[in-house]
Amino acid sequence: MPEGQIRKAISGFYYVKSENENLIQCKGRGVFRNRGITPLVGDFVTIVQDGDNDATITEVHKRKNELVRPPIANIDQALLVFSIVEPDFSLHLLDRFLAVIESAGIQPVICLTKKDVAKDKDLRQAESATAYYRSIGYDVIATFIGDPDLYPLLQPHLAGKTTVLAGQSGVGKSTLLNTLIPELSLKTGEISEALGRGKHTTRHVELLEVAGGLVADTPGFSSLDFDHIEKEELRDYFVEMENVAHECKFRGCLHLKEPGCAVKEKVETGEILQSRHTHYLQFLQEITDRKPRY
Ligand code: ZN
Repeated sequence: MPEGQIRKAISGFYYVKSENENLIQCKGRGVFRNRGITPLVGDFVTIVQDGDNDATITEVHKRKNELVRPPIANIDQALLVFSIVEPDFSLHLLDRFLAVIESAGIQPVICLTKKDVAKDKDLRQAESATAYYRSIGYDVIATFIGDPDLYPLLQPHLAGKTTVLAGQSGVGKSTLLNTLIPELSLKTGEISEALGRGKHTTRHVELLEVAGGLVADTPGFSSLDFDHIEKEELRDYFVEMENVAHECKFRGCLHLKEPGCAVKEKVETGEILQSRHTHYLQFLQEITDRKPRY
């Protein structure tokens, strides 16, 4: 039976890219509803051909991960778009995005925009901050919309991977998507962002082939709360803390007030950026304060 990947879903139909490169229109099998399975864009599936123009998805393969908004499965990375200025680069927001993305099992790539309009002072600040994020293992790209090197800069990061764009509003995510995918005219995004309405037209999600990889045609991660994260989990999503946690005196150390905490020691010596630990503590408090779920 042929296998393939769902590249888009529109009004009950799924468009599956098969191994022989055709896009096949498929129906979902009725039993999925009973089993509570909704095929998602990005799903790897098995299909059976019912006729010349008709096919049915018979099996949804195990997912690596999935997002709710936008609804996509099997994402490799999030291109996390932040501006250096207008709006100002916020480490608090960056750490929030990083924790949420790490919790979804997705690799973040940090992309700083508006390099062309940033003053030297802002550039230096952004550079010193991003040097730290590079040191803990994140890829950081600095660019601007209209940069002739934008495509060659992003190409190696996009090749062979499934990427969603995410980040601060007003940083040019939709423009970036339009630059990467010239044939794409986004109905969502910048205009409503500019008007401050934050309303996005409901539309389908599609994975498009860009630079030898796949990019979702929608700015992702509209929800940045920690509802799905437990208190004891949060520390795992701060990579540099996770890396030294085994040196903490207590096994379940929350890097809060415990004696012999290796994380706090490394914050003191400057090995771990103070703001990272501060934001971790703020997010931890947010999780502690949240209303119990029913
Ligand atoms: Zn600790």
